[in-house]
Amino acid sequence: MRQSILFTKTKKEVEKNEVSQNARLLLRGGYINKEMAGVYSFLPLGLRVIRKIENVIREEMKNSLGAQEIVMPALHPLSNYKKTGREKIDVLFHTKLNSGGDLVLGQSHEEIVVPLFKKFVSSYKDLPCGIFQIQTKFRNELRAKSGILRGREFLMKDLYSFHENENSLHEYYERVKEVYLRIYKRLGIGEKTYITLASGGTFSKYSHEFQTITNSGEDDIYLCKDCKIAINKEIIETTKRCPKCKKDISDLEEKKAIEVGNIFPLYTRFSKPFGLTYKDKEGKENLVVMGCYGIGISRVMGAVVEVLSDERGIVWPKNIAPFSVHLLSLNADKEAEKLYNLFLQEGIDILFDDREKRPGEKLIESDLLGIPLRIVVSGKTLEKDSVEIKKREKEEEEFVKINEVIKYVQKNI
Ligand code: ATP
Ligand code: MG
Repeated sequence: MRQSILFTKTKKEVEKNEVSQNARLLLRGGYINKEMAGVYSFLPLGLRVIRKIENVIREEMKNSLGAQEIVMPALHPLSNYKKTGREKIDVLFHTKLNSGGDLVLGQSHEEIVVPLFKKFVSSYKDLPCGIFQIQTKFRNELRAKSGILRGREFLMKDLYSFHENENSLHEYYERVKEVYLRIYKRLGIGEKTYITLASGGTFSKYSHEFQTITNSGEDDIYLCKDCKIAINKEIIETTKRCPKCKKDISDLEEKKAIEVGNIFPLYTRFSKPFGLTYKDKEGKENLVVMGCYGIGISRVMGAVVEVLSDERGIVWPKNIAPFSVHLLSLNADKEAEKLYNLFLQEGIDILFDDREKRPGEKLIESDLLGIPLRIVVSGKTLEKDSVEIKKREKEEEEFVKINEVIKYVQKNI
């Protein structure tokens, strides 16, 4: 893509009341626009990041778990929430039909997916089964000041699993844990993300969160570095030890973290109110046993910025960067154009800064945008038949001969 046609522009400053690092950098880079507190638009560069995160997650859902993708609505009948007793949840947005009838905006989809599943499935032969979606959620959050970490409208992947019994649920649940850890690794925050024991809320005794360590996080966790497991401070009263090695909490590290995912065994919490049953081999009716598994997609994008940025800007991990290469022409348009076309032919994701701007400005903006490989073409590099390549996370540049650039890039993206 040519930067000259990109309608968004970078900004040097954002409003002072914008305190969180993710909001400041994403707003300055033109990745997102703030419409009101907790409500953001995703702009061309930002949407590219979101789509890449989605695709990593989608691939793992389908290929590693065999889950099936659907899309459920955002408008839900309030009557379904009366059945589950969740009509009083504080974050629910309420609205009404002109023709009469109370609605809520979906903050999660148990109240939709369970009656939906019941219409199609009644036999053990169809179980276990996993269904997921990637969709916008609405929550009337009291505080929304952490940029896209806590939105009132945000993107989530939610997966629901359906089973004959608790054994089958537990086996699936353990598989999801592994898949989630792989997802966070692919998204570039694997080293900082830990499985965390948390309270199960109204559903069950425990649930598991995936917490990414950063000082800007809202949650406090106790981390056992040896076991790579943490415990959320909210439940520490009931578990005073590492669940694995049984080390006392005084030997665990207290850290700030962001919850980037949460998985719950639901058991029959939702199948009961909707009468979701199946016939077993003997023809006996049993309640379906369920689990649910969320990942905050827009929150992950914010978490990556919190964890991986530096004083100059964002440092995107390869797999979710809006582009793989940022090509800058510093008064060398003819040669840079040739190179740009070569990259396009090779199918490499490239942003080409073909604007008429001062070299210093282009370099500063490139650091702010945070694309993993920066390639500079200038009079100085052309004297050596070369370009200058710099990895965003490194300090030093290297000269690479023009006829070896494509090979170099293919090796490094
Ligand atoms: P939190 O404890 O942060 O309020 P939650 O426990 O209510 O989140 P879940 O209902 O389990 O969250 O939602 C699944 C995932 O969706 C969370 O792990 C988080 O990553 C993401 N998420 C939840 N609320 C928000 C929000 N307001 N904005 C952005 N992402 C969110
Ligand atoms: Mg939570």
